Amino acid sequence: MSTPTILENALFNYDRTAKMLEGEVDRLLLDKMRRPKERIEISLTPQFHDDKVHIFRAFVVRHSIALGTSKGGIRMRPNVTLDDITGLAMEMTWKCALIGVPFGGGKSGIVADAERLSPYDKETLVRNFARNAVRHISPLVYVPAPDMGTNERDMGYIKDALSWSVGNATTQGCYVTGKPVILGGIPGRREATGRGVAACVVEALTHQGRKVEGATAIVQGFGNVGSVTARALTERGVRVLGIGDLYGAVYNERGLDLAALEAHAAKTGTVKGFSEASAIDAGKLLEMPCDVLVPAAAESQITRENAPQISTRLIAEGANGPTTPEADEILADRGILVIPDILCNAGGVFVSYLEYTQETQQEQMTESEVRGRLQQRMTEKFHQVRNLSEDRKISMRDAAMLVAVKTVAQALEARGRLP
Ligand code: NAD
Repeated sequence: MSTPTILENALFNYDRTAKMLEGEVDRLLLDKMRRPKERIEISLTPQFHDDKVHIFRAFVVRHSIALGTSKGGIRMRPNVTLDDITGLAMEMTWKCALIGVPFGGGKSGIVADAERLSPYDKETLVRNFARNAVRHISPLVYVPAPDMGTNERDMGYIKDALSWSVGNATTQGCYVTGKPVILGGIPGRREATGRGVAACVVEALTHQGRKVEGATAIVQGFGNVGSVTARALTERGVRVLGIGDLYGAVYNERGLDLAALEAHAAKTGTVKGFSEASAIDAGKLLEMPCDVLVPAAAESQITRENAPQISTRLIAEGANGPTTPEADEILADRGILVIPDILCNAGGVFVSYLEYTQETQQEQMTESEVRGRLQQRMTEKFHQVRNLSEDRKISMRDAAMLVAVKTVAQALEARGRLP
């Protein structure tokens, strides 16, 4: 079997859960939850600094509205497809349900190479997306956030574009999360996903009877999720030995100096070439011995090819869909604990919910409140999923999916027959 796509991966995990729920959840609801509510394709025609009009494709998918407004990030990648966005929107449905926020799943995509666009062109493209997707973005329809290739700055442009399109300085209610604090963002949102990953790692290591202080980690990805996870783990006394990105990977058996690595990456755009570590093959990085491996970059990175060589007892999925179903089976046979994406990286959407409520109520939360609530929610959900997986003798992924799918089914039932 070739490497599954994001959508195939999401459907595989869903079908597995639906099978476990046969007899317990109405067949009609199971079929309904398998399909996206709405898939939209949009053409963007921004005029760039070269004075030329360029054509881009963009997508918005709302997988579910059972629990509330669809929520999910904007992915900007050169090869992203409508099916990828559908798979990611479906994952968002389960993530929101599991972490306990009243949102449905959504996602959007822009087919462009974020790393090759000048800041001017990227801003123009993001604003063009906001203008063309305006009918699909609102506190009651779909609320975007950052994902691969987009960041806090881009969310600021979206808020600005939407508010000024009706001639106002601000919006009424929350149209986008993960925006700069000065524009109504929430302190700690940028760090939320990585901090949530680190919170899960600490609980899992402790649960496995291992010490957090002095444990070792390998992280794939040095964008928002990877860099913050690495930092948050070091704050807990973990030594991060290796980090990789799209361009290369670096390794230092004594532990990487993250401040120096961040400065290097800020200057060069990559971890590659960092002088205080050795270069290592990006594929080999994932197989280096460590106490925890954190894939925090792209999908389908742990496959049946490399799963037998992975040398850790714990994998924390910072990225969405980094492990293929075939790899999952191999890892389970080898006794490697996998903290599934819909739990492990749900800190971002949890804090997005705090941002949403803060803006709706025109309140201001402090960073320590946000950190405290994030820590509490991640710990609570980690143990809920862990306990269920132990009681039922199933993987943490299956346990997380069971909780999530049942919750969405309950919401659909509560709404009655029509939705
Ligand atoms: P980002 O664009 O900030 O960073 C991505 C990083 O991964 C970069 O360092 C890039 O070079 C690296 N990368 C990309 N493809 C790679 C590959 N094939 N091999 C090695 N490295 C590669 O993105 P991000 O926001 O940090 O998102 C990373 C992952 O986490 C994605 O799967 C995303 O869906 C998921 N996620 C992000 C958030 C969030 O709040 N940003 C929340 C939940 C999940």
